[in-house]
Amino acid sequence: MSQTPANAEAETESNKAARKRRRREPPPDPTPLPGLVDAHTHLAACGGRDPAAVAAILDHAESVGVHQVVTVADDMVDARWAMDAAHWDDRAFAAVALHPTHAAELDDGAKAELEQMVADPRVVAVGETGLDYYWPGKSDSCANPMEQAEAFRWHIDLAKRVGKPLMIHNREADRDLLDILTAEGAPESVIMHCFSGDLNVARECVDRGFILSFAGTVSFANADELRAAAEIVPDDQILVETDAPFLTPHPYRGQPNQSYCLPYTARALARVRDVDEVEMARILGANARRVYRLPLQ
Ligand SMILES: [Zn+2]
Ligand SMILES: [Zn+2]
Repeated sequence: MSQTPANAEAETESNKAARKRRRREPPPDPTPLPGLVDAHTHLAACGGRDPAAVAAILDHAESVGVHQVVTVADDMVDARWAMDAAHWDDRAFAAVALHPTHAAELDDGAKAELEQMVADPRVVAVGETGLDYYWPGKSDSCANPMEQAEAFRWHIDLAKRVGKPLMIHNREADRDLLDILTAEGAPESVIMHCFSGDLNVARECVDRGFILSFAGTVSFANADELRAAAEIVPDDQILVETDAPFLTPHPYRGQPNQSYCLPYTARALARVRDVDEVEMARILGANARRVYRLPLQ
């Protein structure tokens, strides 16, 4: 039976409303997958800005097997939130830096405060720093590539001075980023967060001994190239992260992300690498604890 145009239109409207509703809804809990560590999340951006809210996010994560998280700073305000979360809850650890888009804010005051922060034992990495060539020109407040490169060099040196891993953000800047690391000399431990490169970049990073951390993007329908990269990373150089509240894994793309969603991405990696999911979780958790030097929990 054919629909009248009016009915068809009404149905489209209600479909649209349903889609909108779904976008705001958090994904359902995954089946628990014990032993995981969320290698990169943003607790404050997920609503974790007081001890109770942080505990609620981490309780939820723990209920599905995500026992520890590394919460990452974007700007100085966010760095203070990350420090607070890491002191409020022993399941949270912090990484602090100025995100490349905020690189122009790296003045003497910010440098002094970051240096003080990274000395704290609850801070397990310097990050996220690196290069972001997507935002310049699209956002007025975004630092330009020159400012980003200068701040990146300063963070590389900081990571080397404190002997903590360097956590890298790279968006559309593969070549310049690898060149700067070569010129400056990479710290002992380098984590490519939310790895997004192709097979060649993955090979180059693996050869340099870097750790590749995969986010929900590896589960996206159009991510065959990224999955090919995830396949070739050696067992001891791979991590899994949410980058929450962004990059929610398939089939919940676009809905709000949190650390409890990590098992979806860990399972996607197990499928790509054709290993048992429990074994995959064991490998991913052990790597995070080794790289960030986390206590066993
Ligand atoms: Zn990032
Ligand atoms: Zn991030």
